[in-house]
Amino acid sequence: MLDNTRLRIAMQKSGRLSDESRELLSRCGIKINLQQQRLIAFAENMPIDILRVRDDDIPGLVMDGVVDLGIIGENVLEEEVLTRRAQGEDPQLSILRRLDFGGCRLSLAMPADSAYTGPECLDGKRIATSYPHLLKKYFDSQGLTFKSCLLNGSVEVAPRAGLSDAICDLVSTGATLEANGLREVDVIYRSKAVLIQRAGELEADKQALVNRLMTRIQGVIQARESKYIMMHAPSDKLEQVIDLLPGAERPTVLPLAGDQSRLALHMVSSETLFWETMEKLKALGASSILVLPIEKMME
Ligand code: ATP
Ligand code: MG
Repeated sequence: MLDNTRLRIAMQKSGRLSDESRELLSRCGIKINLQQQRLIAFAENMPIDILRVRDDDIPGLVMDGVVDLGIIGENVLEEEVLTRRAQGEDPQLSILRRLDFGGCRLSLAMPADSAYTGPECLDGKRIATSYPHLLKKYFDSQGLTFKSCLLNGSVEVAPRAGLSDAICDLVSTGATLEANGLREVDVIYRSKAVLIQRAGELEADKQALVNRLMTRIQGVIQARESKYIMMHAPSDKLEQVIDLLPGAERPTVLPLAGDQSRLALHMVSSETLFWETMEKLKALGASSILVLPIEKMME
C-alpha cells in the first residue's frame, strides 16, 4: 500500500523526458534510487515517492488524482485534455511551471516534392498523426477539415506507405523528416516539459513541500540560465566596460593588490557573454575574463 502522506510525483520512465526529469529532481536535493526496473521509487531524504510510467499515462494520473505532481510534455498534456473534453469530461489540474527542457514542435510535414502554400492545401486530405485532437483544434481554427490516420509510432513513414498525404508529428531538429523524404511545412504547436499538479487542495504538509520544491526548481532553472562573470579592467575604462556587460545588474568592483590602475569586476548575469563582447572588452584593456557556470541560486 502506498503511504498517502508522501508526495507522489509521476515522471517518464524512459524516453526523451526521463533523464532531464530525474536530473531536475536530483538537483532539487531529492535523493532517489532509480536503478531497478521498479514502478515506484522512494526518496531517501524527503517524504516523496516517484512513479515511473509511460509519458502518455502522466496527465491522466494527475487528472484522476492518483499522483500529486507530474512532469510531462505540453503536447501530451494538451492532447489528453482535448481527448477528455471530447468525451464530455471536464479535466482539472494546474500547471505549476514551464520547465527548461523537452522543447519540440508539432508540425505538419509533406513529401519534399509537393507544393505547399498554406494549410488550405491540406483541406480534406488524409493526415497521419498521434495527436488527432491537437491537429483538429488547429484545422478547426483555420476553418478546414482533414481525415485522420491515427498512428502511435512511425508516423513519418505513412506518406511513403500510401497511408496518408501528410503527417503531423513532433520535430526538434528535422533530421527524421529529412531522412524520410519529408519537408516541414507548418508548426501547429510549440511544446516544453511542464510541472503539473492535481486539482483540489493538498494536505498542509504536502503543500509546504510543494512550495519548497518550487523554490528549488526556480533556483535550479535560474542557475542553469545564469553565468558568473569575472574580469580585470582598467580603472579609467570602468563605465565603458560596464556598458558592454550583459544584463542590467551592476557588477561588484574590487581593488587589485598593488595595482591602482586596474580593478576586478564580478557579476551574475542571466545572459551569457558572447565571444564578440569578450573581444570588445579585451580591446578596452580587460583581461582574465572568466565566464563560469552557477550550480545553485536562491534570491
Ligand atoms: P513513452 O514510452 O514514455 O510513451 P514516447 O515514445 O511516447 O515515450 P518520447 O519519444 O520519449 O515519448 O518523447 C517524450 C516527449 O519528449 C514528447 O512528448 C515531447 O514532449 C518531448 N520531445 C522533445 N523533443 C522531441 C522530439 N524530437 N521528438 C519527440 N518528442 C520530443
Ligand atoms: Mg508516449
